[in-house]
Amino acid sequence: MRNSRVGKIIALILIIVGAVLIEPNLHFNQTQPAKIIVDLIENSFLGLSLIFIGGIHLLNNFFLSLQSNFGKKKCFTCQKKTEDILIREGDKHTPYCRNHLLHEFSKSFLQFPHKMVVFHPEQDRKYCGTMYPYYPISEFEAFYFRKEDRQIMEERLREIQGKCSKCKNSASVSYYRKGVLQWDSSGPVMRSVNIPGEFLCTKCTLDRIEPDLRANKNPFADNGLFVPYKGEGVFVNTYL
Ligand SMILES: [Zn+2]
Ligand SMILES: [Zn+2]
Repeated sequence: MRNSRVGKIIALILIIVGAVLIEPNLHFNQTQPAKIIVDLIENSFLGLSLIFIGGIHLLNNFFLSLQSNFGKKKCFTCQKKTEDILIREGDKHTPYCRNHLLHEFSKSFLQFPHKMVVFHPEQDRKYCGTMYPYYPISEFEAFYFRKEDRQIMEERLREIQGKCSKCKNSASVSYYRKGVLQWDSSGPVMRSVNIPGEFLCTKCTLDRIEPDLRANKNPFADNGLFVPYKGEGVFVNTYL
């Protein structure tokens, strides 16, 4: 950002110096327009070069900024340009900057009254991209998960009980750290998760996953970041 501003100032200085250099050689009283140009090229080569270099730099800068803003939306809260999207109720898309995305996500996550299985986000896993969806158990079939996946996840949800293992709140999450979940060519193999996770409250779960969601290198574009919806379910990365 700072570099591009310095670059623009230097480009402007080049153009101004160029203009000052060619000014004495602008003979507009010439009757032939072609002669004006020939005079300029003969007498003000340095000035023209400076204007040319400065101009190219400014144009290049302009197109680069057009390109980097392409496809960006404005954060619903602070208007900052962003590609991150928060998805509520499974299909309501709202753009947020990373800060407000996590702020809104955290609010909904903490207030969610249903039990959840939460696999730690693994955005850096090959093919995961930025997909960290929430799958309500009632919609497992709609997302083409196998019957055994649903049965095992229901079992993991049923066994959640007692206090959070980190604080005095009651547990509502079965949490699995990175690397526990096996994958095959069609995605996460939830049916193979046959041990109980760590029982946590939503706050202690959020403390675990929030830093990795915040640090995600790619934007939560396309399919965005989901807030939990429609009852008990599972947070898990899937293939794009
Ligand atoms: Zn914002
Ligand atoms: Zn807790």
